[in-house]
Amino acid sequence: MIGAGVVGVATAYHLAQQGHQVLVLDQASTPAAMCSFANAGIIAVGHASSWAGPAAPRQLLRAVLGQEPSVKLSRCMDADMWRWGLKFLRNCTTISHRRNSDAMAMLSRHGRDALQQMEAKVGLTFDQSHDGVYYLYTSSTQYAARLKGNTGADTGFTPHDAATLMKLDPALRAFDGRLQGGLISSVDSKGDCQKFTTGLVEWLTAKGNVSFHFGTTVTGFASRGMDVSAVLTDKGRFACDHVVIAAGTETPKLTASFGVRPLIYPVKGYSATYPILDASRIPVRPFIDETSLLAVTRLGDRLRVTAIAEFAGYDRTVTADRVAYLDTYVDQHFSGAVDVAQAEHWAGLRPTTPSGRPYLGRLRQTSNVWLNAGHGQLGWTMAAGAGEIMAAMISGNPNNAAQVSETAHWLTAS
Ligand SMILES: Cc1cc2nc3c(=O)[nH]c(=O)nc-3n(C[C@H](O)[C@H](O)[C@H](O)COP(=O)(O)OP(=O)(O)OC[C@H]3O[C@@H](n4cnc5c(N)ncnc54)[C@H](O)[C@@H]3O)c2cc1C
Repeated sequence: MIGAGVVGVATAYHLAQQGHQVLVLDQASTPAAMCSFANAGIIAVGHASSWAGPAAPRQLLRAVLGQEPSVKLSRCMDADMWRWGLKFLRNCTTISHRRNSDAMAMLSRHGRDALQQMEAKVGLTFDQSHDGVYYLYTSSTQYAARLKGNTGADTGFTPHDAATLMKLDPALRAFDGRLQGGLISSVDSKGDCQKFTTGLVEWLTAKGNVSFHFGTTVTGFASRGMDVSAVLTDKGRFACDHVVIAAGTETPKLTASFGVRPLIYPVKGYSATYPILDASRIPVRPFIDETSLLAVTRLGDRLRVTAIAEFAGYDRTVTADRVAYLDTYVDQHFSGAVDVAQAEHWAGLRPTTPSGRPYLGRLRQTSNVWLNAGHGQLGWTMAAGAGEIMAAMISGNPNNAAQVSETAHWLTAS
């Protein structure tokens, strides 16, 4: 297994459950050190929708003109980005958007259910709860449009006007009269992705059939015909029967030696995590501010706010103006309820495909190299489910064959 982010570790868990001896290699010194480190923490089944849709080209144009606070284009001279962008535009038709979003929703639901099974089996605590999420609107036009679209497909979402929401959760008075309404979803959960991944690494290590080598960078592969016989690293050579690449945004660099460059582009996002000073003023559920496009999640005694999709190549710098956007939002809504001066700011690169669907399957150029990468804005949501499907594919497990064949047609990113 290459990669000890949430996707790699969840896959290692499922492979171990199927009786495999698993070795996980990661260049970082700790688990979940890259994109899985400080994400919004939402198991966002209700948000499983492809970014590529009929409204996206206009939004991208506004981003190019610098008029979009939540989408930024900071690096224009990048051939990989344009290659990715052209494919993204091709996925913006109504039909593609529906097909991709349905596929993402299926994998997300499977991810949530598989995560809950793991929770029950492993007994980890990671500031999780399964009480759903608020989807909030401060624009009456947007709220009306959402209500119009809230048809049978949206089962699990209950709309409420602003007064009812604030009665149910007085902390939503933070919106200071601007809230127009919202929905409470029962399909979403929350939890700290980094805590989960780290806890699972400890559990797997203690159980014995998974070993982890941190601080180990994969540099190449030794092949015999179509078989990879060993993974080459800066710490030596590791023999293997199968290789799973779950290296997030680094995946295309690793597959290049097989002549394959999957369309996975880094889309940068930012988070800020604040100590909570007054818990009575923090909403009981996480919320997605659908008008300002921010997510806000309470994780134990911390509040985390995340936002922004920035095309900046592989640059992970935490830029002052971007995090100021988060701090200002928190100041406006939760001044005095959290300690803004103690904020921990972070930037991560979402491994994003043009369609939103991950790569999940075997590299056709090989007999034993598998990809589980490109889960974009939903990697925490999909990880446990994608890991289970990957393990079933590798094992050729007849018990899981039906599930694999049912899902296979939508698993390869287009
Ligand atoms: C701001 C923000 C908010 C988000 N919020 C949510 C959310 O609420 N819900 C949700 O579902 N998702 C969310 N996401 C997305 C989610 O965090 C990612 O999809 C997920 O973490 C990707 O996991 P991964 O394991 O594929 O990649 P990573 O976590 O990046 O792991 C890849 C690993 O591979 C290792 N690696 C790479 N190259 C090599 C090499 N050559 N040798 C050895 N090791 C290597 C890296 O060190 C790394 O540890 C968010 C992302 C961001 C940025």
